[in-house]
Parts: sequence; structure tokens; C-alpha cells
Amino acid sequence: MNIYADLHLHSCLSPCGDTDMTPNNLVRLAKLLGYDMIALTDHNTCRNCAAAMEVGAREGITVVPGMELCTAEEIHCVCLLPDLAAAEAFSEHVHATLPPVRNHPEIFGEQLVLDAQDNRLDTEPLLLTTASTIGIDALPALVRTFGGACFPAHLDRASYSVLSVLGEWYAELDFRTVEFTHKAFLPQYFERHPLLQGKRIVRNSDAHYLENMVEPAEPLPLSACTPAALINFINGN
Ligand SMILES: [Zn+2]
Ligand SMILES: [Zn+2]
Repeated sequence: MNIYADLHLHSCLSPCGDTDMTPNNLVRLAKLLGYDMIALTDHNTCRNCAAAMEVGAREGITVVPGMELCTAEEIHCVCLLPDLAAAEAFSEHVHATLPPVRNHPEIFGEQLVLDAQDNRLDTEPLLLTTASTIGIDALPALVRTFGGACFPAHLDRASYSVLSVLGEWYAELDFRTVEFTHKAFLPQYFERHPLLQGKRIVRNSDAHYLENMVEPAEPLPLSACTPAALINFINGN
């Protein structure tokens, strides 16, 4: 079945995410835009996934728990988990690999943990935009041990992308799917990096503000509108 999905969205828990990106606002806007499925992928944490999934269940849109992990090489990878328990376990695992740098909200922005009514539960004290000690070569297998799947984010960006950091070495890595933003002109990348032609391509908004969320473009051919079907697809099955 054709599933319209945006698999890369930030909430107000990401320091660079707008405080208006609450679980209710982002899930309801995604529904309004016509999405069947979204993934919440804050930097290095899954702590707002519980609220977003609860709103999703209420609104009738599938919310996949996820994270945009920053690897030791400073490469951003979107990680998708099968359920809340796996996401929380993965989030705790990643938290322990972050440097002990505290957030300064006046410089980097607030990191708000909210409930499904958008009430403030907590603020995350650790700065979430640092690099974990997890290397990109180890990440796909690590995410699979939590039942999930991952893909390198925004290959068309000049920073924090696998192409900008590793160049052609990306081909050595165990990724079946890669992400481009909606702005990328793909033929140009296929010409320059022929090995990309064997990869699955997903295109997502990476929205940090409500106004960055866009209408769905190409649907994904999934067997069902579930995290499990999505994870199968991202893993190349
Ligand atoms: Zn990123
Ligand atoms: Zn992002």
C-alpha cells in the first residue's frame, strides 16, 4: 500500500526545534497535510516519543518513535524503533554515550519534554546536539539489536552528512536506505555517486519549525502502515 510519510521531524526537545513544535501541534499538522505516518526524530533522544505516539493514537496517524543520532564522526543518522519500549531503551543507551555537556538554553534553546497534552514534564539537562561515541560503522547493527533500522540523513547537506564527512566511503557502510531533503536534485547525485543507485531513497522535511513541514510527495510502498513494515522497508527487505 502507498503510505505518505515524513520520517524526519524535530520537536521542542531538540534545542534547535521551535517551542511551537509540541507533540500536539506537529502530529495534528502532519495529519492535516495528509500524512499517514510520521517519525519523531529529535537529536540524540526519544524522550518526546511517548507523547507524540499518544497524540498519534488519538488522532489516527501512525507515529514511529525515532531519533536523529549524531555519530562519533559527526554524521547524522535517522534511527527508527519498533515501539516505545525499544525507543526508550535505545534512548537510554545513546544518552550514556553523550559527552557531559550541559545545555545552556539562552544560547542553544530550550529542550522541553512534554506530555500528550503539551504540558511540560521536564527539561533535558544534557546538551542534545553533541556527538555520541557510537561510530557510524557500528550503528546499523546496534539499531537492529533494538529491532530498528537507520539511514544516513540529508545526504545533500554540506555538514553532518555521510557524503560531506566520508565521501565515497559511504558505500562501505551497511545502509540500504539513504535520505535526501526535498530540495535535492537527485540525478546530479546519482551521476556523481553511482553506488547510490543501489540504495533506497527517502525524502523527508527535517522540519524544526511548523512552517518547515511540507505536503507529502512520493509515497512509500509499505506492506502496512506500521513501524514494523517501515523498519522492514528501511532495512531493504
Ligand atoms: Zn541533521
Ligand atoms: Zn534533523
